[in-house]
Amino acid sequence: MTTNAELIERDLSVLWHPCTQMSDHEWLPLLPIRRGEGVWLEDFDGNRYIDTLSSWWVNLFGHANPRINRALKTQMEELEHVILAGCGHEPAVALAEKLRETTPPGLDRCFYADNGSAAVEVAIKMSYHYWRNRNQEDRRKFVTLSNSYHGETLGALAVGNVDLYKATYGPLLMDVLTAPSPDCFEREEGESWEEYSRRMFRPMAELLEQEHEQVSAVIVEPLVQCAGGMRMYHPVYLKLLREACDHYGIHLIADEIAVGFGRTGSLFACGQADITPDFMCLSKGLTGGYLPMSAVMMTEEIYQGFYDRYENLTAFLHSHSYTGNPLACSVALETLAIFEDEDVIERNRAKAERIAQAFAPLADHPNVGEVRQHGMILAAEMMKDPKTREPYPWQERRGLHVYRHALKHEALMRPLGHVFYFMPPYVISDEQIEHCARVAMEGIDRATAA
Ligand SMILES: *Cc1c(COP(=O)(O)O)cnc(C)c1O
Repeated sequence: MTTNAELIERDLSVLWHPCTQMSDHEWLPLLPIRRGEGVWLEDFDGNRYIDTLSSWWVNLFGHANPRINRALKTQMEELEHVILAGCGHEPAVALAEKLRETTPPGLDRCFYADNGSAAVEVAIKMSYHYWRNRNQEDRRKFVTLSNSYHGETLGALAVGNVDLYKATYGPLLMDVLTAPSPDCFEREEGESWEEYSRRMFRPMAELLEQEHEQVSAVIVEPLVQCAGGMRMYHPVYLKLLREACDHYGIHLIADEIAVGFGRTGSLFACGQADITPDFMCLSKGLTGGYLPMSAVMMTEEIYQGFYDRYENLTAFLHSHSYTGNPLACSVALETLAIFEDEDVIERNRAKAERIAQAFAPLADHPNVGEVRQHGMILAAEMMKDPKTREPYPWQERRGLHVYRHALKHEALMRPLGHVFYFMPPYVISDEQIEHCARVAMEGIDRATAA
């Protein structure tokens, strides 16, 4: 039997891990995972860990979910993959139908890609191309929010705004227009989320008023800027943004890659603002955490903007090799079926309440500046001095203390810098939530005492 140590040795001699300074692994051991079941991950030495970050926000109904496994095996026997240009297949059609039915009304067309960043590329290319097809080529700027994240490929990176990932590649990226985030962590004392998000819409309104003639689309992460430190805002901002985009005839791209599929308490975060964007990017939870796939939903109006005789050269000639992969579509269909059969959104309401209660004591911690939550995402901001709003210097990497403490107590937790967050699979039990809250609070004690 392979041990942790053996796998680590082989791994580090050949792999280059994502989003990692590999030299960290000289002193911070890699965690080799042998198997998963439900919320549990198990390493090669037989230790177990609750997957509190849903394997980078993708897993919804647990590892090795029996229903999803069955759907995958069944599909595998029929058709594993086929080119989607010129060919069609049942899982791709059925999933597009299901997404049309469950996303906000008006998102009637579905374009597949194979990861989140690719979905963002599709949406921005399509938005620009739509205007170009209508002889409005000057509309080629994208408006983004400060602290936003939309992926790592060059187009997606350009419309994002997290310096840690973006600054290095600045010279390679297209210019964008940036409005300040409505992130409610920055609100004044006594100011409500709604008041602050409304107030922060003003600079966006001014930017659009001045620049609208050259703007193709505004792209936002609805309600939670996840990679930017789980910063959250009020749905009123989305409502105001939809109105402004309508007013100026600008596209609105909702990147629901992380917040879609029940994360914020509703099936899609846009639902809480009762809006329909022109484009909605979906990935991560789309396949329940099983296979890489993404979908961009858009309005029929966008689709019609490309529909013409071939010789007019208006077609969207964009593709990815694994577009509409049948295995991925079939697990996505099963994932959506679980939402319906098991009344997941309603049950998550109770679960989110349990999470709030379990982590509530953190709010009184002397080095926690804020505990915030939108549905199945809870975050706590570790700070040197919450009263003066003084953060810890980023170089101190105090989140690593939480990571290491959690590993010793059956939990995998990976704070984003000094932001602890809890974003578990929806199948987590109340006892497991309470266990994780205890471990997190001990970990935060250690991190802030260090
Ligand atoms: C993760 C993420 C992406 C990128 O998706 P990948 O599949 O990692 O390329 C884009 N937008 C948001 C909001 C994300 O959280």
